[in-house]
Amino acid sequence: MYPENEIFREGLDDLAGHYKEILTLLGEDPSREGLLKTPMRVAKAMQVLTRGYEMDAHQVLRDALFKEDYSQMVIVKDIDFFSLCEHHMLPFYGKVHVAYIPNGYITGLSKIARVVDIYSHRLQVQERMTLQIKECIQETLKPLGVMVVVEARHMCMQMRGVEKQNSITTTSDFCGAFNQAKTREEFMNLINR
Ligand SMILES: [Zn+2]
Repeated sequence: MYPENEIFREGLDDLAGHYKEILTLLGEDPSREGLLKTPMRVAKAMQVLTRGYEMDAHQVLRDALFKEDYSQMVIVKDIDFFSLCEHHMLPFYGKVHVAYIPNGYITGLSKIARVVDIYSHRLQVQERMTLQIKECIQETLKPLGVMVVVEARHMCMQMRGVEKQNSITTTSDFCGAFNQAKTREEFMNLINR
C-alpha cells in the first residue's frame, strides 16, 4: 500500500507501540502470530495516509506556473482521492472535479491532482477539503474563478449503517466567475452532472 522507498516520519516506533496497546484494548492478543507485525504495519500505513501534513500544496502550484493567454475554462475531472474523516479516522473516498478560468497563468494538469493528493492525505472533513483545494488554486494561480466539486462515499456512515448504503455526499465551493449560475452550469454539464 506504500512505496518501498517511502521515508517514514519520526515517532514511527511509538506509533506502533500504541497500536499494540490498541489491539489489546480491542480484545485481541497482539502476540498471536497473525498480529505480530500488525502494529508496525498500521503505523506505517497511517503515516502514509497522513503524509500530506508535511507537504506544501501552494508550493507545488507555485513551482509549476506557466504564463499563458488561454482564458477559457480549464477542467480537470475525475481525480480519484482517498482520505480519512477526522471524526472516526475511517476512509472517505471518491472523485474531485476542478475548473478554473485562467488569468494569465495556467499550471500542469497533474499538479492539480497533486494538490488533491496532499489535502486528502490528512485527517479531513469533506467540506474543508473542498475549500482548501479551491483556496490553494485561487491563491496561487489567481484565476478569474475556481470551482471544486467533491463526490464521496463515507465509510464511517456506510459501515456503521448510519446512512443508506451507497449514498454519495457531494460538496462544492466556488469563487469569482463561478458566482454566475451560467458558468457553474457549464462546468456541471462538462462533468456530466
Ligand atoms: Zn466520520
